Amino acid sequence: MADYRKMWGNLGMDLETHDQLCEVLPQAFEDVFLSQKNRPEAMDYYNFVVAEIHGVRPAELIKHQENGGKVFGTFCVYVPDEIVFAADAIATGLCGGSQFWVPEGEKVLPTSTCPLIKASVGARLDKTCPFFRIADMYVGETTCDGKKKAWEILGEDVPMHIMDLPQMKRRKDIKAWAEEITEFKDVVEKFTENKVTADKLSAAIKLINDKRRALARLYECRKNECLPISGRDALIISQIAFYDDPARFTQMTSKLCDELEERIKNNISVVPAGTKRIMLTGTPLAIPNWKIHNIVETSGAAVVCEEMCTGTRYFENLVDESQTTLEGQIEALSERYMGINCACFTPNHGRIDDIICLAKEYKVDGIIDINLKFCSLYDVEGFTVERALKDAGIPVLGIETDYTDSDAEQLRTRIGAFIEMLGM
Ligand code: SF4
Ligand code: SF4
Repeated sequence: MADYRKMWGNLGMDLETHDQLCEVLPQAFEDVFLSQKNRPEAMDYYNFVVAEIHGVRPAELIKHQENGGKVFGTFCVYVPDEIVFAADAIATGLCGGSQFWVPEGEKVLPTSTCPLIKASVGARLDKTCPFFRIADMYVGETTCDGKKKAWEILGEDVPMHIMDLPQMKRRKDIKAWAEEITEFKDVVEKFTENKVTADKLSAAIKLINDKRRALARLYECRKNECLPISGRDALIISQIAFYDDPARFTQMTSKLCDELEERIKNNISVVPAGTKRIMLTGTPLAIPNWKIHNIVETSGAAVVCEEMCTGTRYFENLVDESQTTLEGQIEALSERYMGINCACFTPNHGRIDDIICLAKEYKVDGIIDINLKFCSLYDVEGFTVERALKDAGIPVLGIETDYTDSDAEQLRTRIGAFIEMLGM
């Protein structure tokens, strides 16, 4: 990575502790990603983004701020980035996926909090992530209890806006979410001193829809029997989508898809024919959480789909682009976002329907239902999900894990046995 120490120092980061983080990441990336054979050439872009993860994009965000722009940090796929971009601001994902930040989070949160929340709070408090330092305002949501309380702690340190997400999907809930989006628009306008007009929102809807289209095209390639890209590479792309410049991301992902489609035509697969196809479902895998993909793909199977927020939930369904008034556009945003099936909703049959439908589309041999430790929402829903999958005749393995490596060997044994069982 180029030398960004001055920039990090200006952000008030703890440089010594940050050095420790920077030491472990390149080796982990080498082991999980660069060691793979036959990767698409267009993965070079994403390799570069990860190699420069705390450098290039943070520098771009700071430049934007120097030009008078604002940066909003978000933690959930229900928060509409479109509103932020329509106000000439930038939205960036902030979910923490590293064990490195967990101990700092545990200083203020109970140990029995999910690692994603502990890492996200820890990344802010221990001053080792530039994205958490740069964001002018954080946008939280009322999805799960742990997050709701975490916002109160983060809100003492940084301006915070909380969006009140309904927990059911009745007509009145979709209307309520549209009202929340309107209020968010007002907050963003005031904070940025920029007006969100129908024209600007229309352009922002197109910008984010284009990103969704590119990701959908990537996932379409993964449905093929001839698998042109590994699950690990698809995962890193999904993770990068949360913070890269959306227009550039769309362009680079479209270029990658050109190559993948060419590979399919020429029957170039990253795995031998007959490799077992696995879908993952459950809690999100924030960067740099690559643990399960790595175990599955070094145990002789391939991950072909993720029914997760770092997966299909992030890009499925487009926002209607035909609306021309702010009111119509905000209703369209609410409709699209309320179509996401997170376990924080009740009832949540839509998620089960999605999983069964995706299992068929991606021709999966088995599903791994992943739960981040202490996430009671996905843990409880796991019972219904796994029962529905068994009823549908789809083999399923439920696992619970965190960000440490302490269970890696045990998981390897269980996942290995599951893959072996699929071959019988
Ligand atoms: S799992 Fe639910 S709460 Fe978490 S990011 Fe996804 S939608 Fe948001
Ligand atoms: S994984 Fe579960 S507990 Fe953790 S932030 Fe998401 S919904 Fe909340």
